[in-house]
Amino acid sequence: MENTTFDVVVVGSGAAGLSLALQLPTELRIAVLSKSDVSAGSTSWAQGGIAAVLHERDSIQAHIDDTLEAGAGLCHEPAVRFTIEHSREVVDWLIAQGLDFDLRLDQSDAEFREFHLTMEGGHSFRRILHAADKTGSAISTVLNKRIAERENIVVMTDRSAVDLITDEHGVRGIYVLNGHAANVDAIKARAVALATGGASKAYLYTSNPDGATGDGIALAWRAGCRVANLEFNQFHPTCLYSPETRTYLLTEALRGEGATLHLPNGERFMPRYDERAELAPRDIVARAIDSEMKRYGLDCVYLDATNKSEEQLAAHFPGVLERCQQAGLDLANERVPVVPAAHYTCGGVVVDQHGAADLPGLYVIGETACTGLHGANRMASNSLLECFVYASSAAKHITANLRILDEETAPTWDDSRVRVSDEAVVIQHNWQSLRRLMWDYVGIVRTNRRLKRAANHLRVMLDEVDDYYSSFTITPPLLELRNLTQVAELMVTCARQRKESRGLHYNSDFPNTSQHAVDTVLVPANAWVEDNSLPSYDGVGA
Ligand SMILES: Cc1cc2nc3c(=O)[nH]c(=O)nc-3n(C[C@H](O)[C@H](O)[C@H](O)COP(=O)(O)OP(=O)(O)OC[C@H]3O[C@@H](n4cnc5c(N)ncnc54)[C@H](O)[C@@H]3O)c2cc1C
Repeated sequence: MENTTFDVVVVGSGAAGLSLALQLPTELRIAVLSKSDVSAGSTSWAQGGIAAVLHERDSIQAHIDDTLEAGAGLCHEPAVRFTIEHSREVVDWLIAQGLDFDLRLDQSDAEFREFHLTMEGGHSFRRILHAADKTGSAISTVLNKRIAERENIVVMTDRSAVDLITDEHGVRGIYVLNGHAANVDAIKARAVALATGGASKAYLYTSNPDGATGDGIALAWRAGCRVANLEFNQFHPTCLYSPETRTYLLTEALRGEGATLHLPNGERFMPRYDERAELAPRDIVARAIDSEMKRYGLDCVYLDATNKSEEQLAAHFPGVLERCQQAGLDLANERVPVVPAAHYTCGGVVVDQHGAADLPGLYVIGETACTGLHGANRMASNSLLECFVYASSAAKHITANLRILDEETAPTWDDSRVRVSDEAVVIQHNWQSLRRLMWDYVGIVRTNRRLKRAANHLRVMLDEVDDYYSSFTITPPLLELRNLTQVAELMVTCARQRKESRGLHYNSDFPNTSQHAVDTVLVPANAWVEDNSLPSYDGVGA
């Protein structure tokens, strides 16, 4: 078993983790870990793009107002302002790394070509920069290229973070399951950053990759950090309905460019729900689809993008067009079947404006964190922006506050468990029941009874997984199940604490929205900080 030391360990190789590693000083020894390959997270799958204020017709205030509106009264205004005021810097930094955003094709003067900005739900201006419909993949490729040029950064794949190593002063490092050697290494570090993405895999249908199992949230919670607002899981309204293949997201930008939603009989239903119709925020669109599907017993509804020609779709949405073709669907000439699917975890580990969590020396960034930006509903394309803004502020804070480590080695992993599991079926069974349970009882529309049932089932599952975890040799699937069950339980606890409907959380037993918006902050038994509100910000807007 290795016992190594780094200055900073970054867990996660998505937009948040890679951009943090790149912005730390080159004198520091940094490890970037991924439990799979380097492009395994949601980042590579992002289609629409990244929101930023670039055009003089747009304004920072308009972007702030749109975000606050989407967040249904629960956004923290300082966090929103902080993020949006840094959007221009983020775009400049990405361009400096080598990212090519799409330019407008309709401008003849090559020297003064502007970026092509697209539109998405909730935004009052075209402000989404993109690289066709493969923005996330372009970001991942460029950042990984820059990382490979850096001698001070070691990238380790097939490494699953198991638990944080802590002492009375804060974080000392992290235990990591090495998938190549099948053992657990104790890695000592002066600071650890969790950038492990979201937890949408808790749901049966999701647009996320398999690794979105909430690992960072569970690790931080077990180490005594507060988590918040986990009842707000965003369901993307339009994932391709194709029972034989994986769920595939049909980007919101399609609706931004005029695509409409229909029932099987052709009726366009969104104008009945909201005056913004298909461009209403995602929670409204997802709930409308869910309601129409339940009302008529439908398996899906239909998205009509035939307002665009095949050439236009091929230029802006090549990935979507290709994926539809693979499913035998002709996006340019027919309506395609769509369903909502779990897409984004708005809540997460409570952090301040530097991405610092409660445990000294621990930083949490990207989808794993709860910064206060998204409130009760994330606005489209604000999430990549959040990854970059907080990675940058965390890099500065880590650099200025690196702790000195003692000479002692980190405590090695105690693995007295020698039994190799002969019951993979138990993991598989729990995995499936968990995701089905969350879909059926903690989905788009919730009730008190269903939430109570979910809580009861989850308590039994947690005991079973704990028992299994303490008796058998750990494996990556067991670690993911342990983390996801824990996070599902936190989601249900948050959902049960909220006695109202707000944003993405709709409980038909509490259909009204309270006058005062309050965060749901869960404080663990071993908490470092007892406060049940999110941290305040300094110097924002200065
Ligand atoms: C289909 C899709 C489309 C999207 N489109 C957009 C969009 O257009 N615009 C936008 O702003 N947002 C979009 N999003 C959301 C956005 O992509 C994500 O919120 C963002 O990329 C998350 O980045 P991240 O760095 O936090 O995590 P991720 O990119 O998910 O990376 C997580 C990393 O952590 C690693 N990891 C996880 N657990 C462990 C562990 N225990 N040990 C070691 N490593 C671990 C993973 O291997 C991975 O490297 C989309 C999401 C999806 C799924």
